[in-house]
Amino acid sequence: MKKNKILFVLLMLISITVVSACGTYFYVKQNTKEAPSKELLVMTSCNPTYLATLNVAKDADGVMVQNLSQPSTGCLHDYTLTTEDMKNLSKADVLVINGAGMEGYLEDVVKAYPKLPIIDSSEGLDVENSHVWMSEDLYQAQVKNIAAGLSKIDSGNAATYQESAERYCNIVAGRVDKQGLDEDLAGANVAILHEAFEYTADSLGANVVADMDLDEERQVSAGEVRDFIATVQDENVKVVFAEYDYGNAMGKLITEQTDAKVVYLETLVHGDYSDMDYISILNKNYANIKNVL
Ligand SMILES: [Zn+2]
Repeated sequence: MKKNKILFVLLMLISITVVSACGTYFYVKQNTKEAPSKELLVMTSCNPTYLATLNVAKDADGVMVQNLSQPSTGCLHDYTLTTEDMKNLSKADVLVINGAGMEGYLEDVVKAYPKLPIIDSSEGLDVENSHVWMSEDLYQAQVKNIAAGLSKIDSGNAATYQESAERYCNIVAGRVDKQGLDEDLAGANVAILHEAFEYTADSLGANVVADMDLDEERQVSAGEVRDFIATVQDENVKVVFAEYDYGNAMGKLITEQTDAKVVYLETLVHGDYSDMDYISILNKNYANIKNVL
């Protein structure tokens, strides 16, 4: 009887030890999960910058790339950051921007987070307007700027950033297909209804003889419309590059009143975030141009 009692107490002691050991184990495990991670959080300002950064950083250890929220229509130009954006920035280790004046809110960010490192992907580039990524050559230069910037901040992954940037640039150079448009439109007169397509025209060797920047809701005067239409007729403009949301009303007028073809192209500020988007969207643009010629 006494022996049994001792055995019982012993068993109880063992089970208490096991239970508390398990408890400690689970507690530690849970705690580790909640502890701040050692991940480098890289925030990006807009879709094209996100795509460039993602391709530079996707193979780097412990790096997360996240895009700030995007306006549902138009570009970033007049965009103000949301409360959620500011919260995300407070957790970020670095912000990658397009630069060239695209991020109108930059001053607010610098004021709120003076210590947050900012990588300007357009630094040192010879730009025409803020839609730098629309030039395949400048986009590749942006990719290299981002890799250089990240390498300084996160030197442990520097080799990975450089290799990934180089590989991605080669993919962009190899897979963007102008479909012979750089011969078809070389020296041809074109017109644009969005300044982003200045880069598209440049890429194809075409001359922009008329431009109207319809990048946001704005009033267009009758005189402006008349002058644009007159130039399209006088200069034998073959094709007009436009963005649908803000350019389709003007596009309709051009189609009615001139022989020029109007083609609607993407500026890459919207769309999903798959890593090869840049190439597929640019190729779609070139295919659309080819189709109207
Ligand atoms: Zn824009």
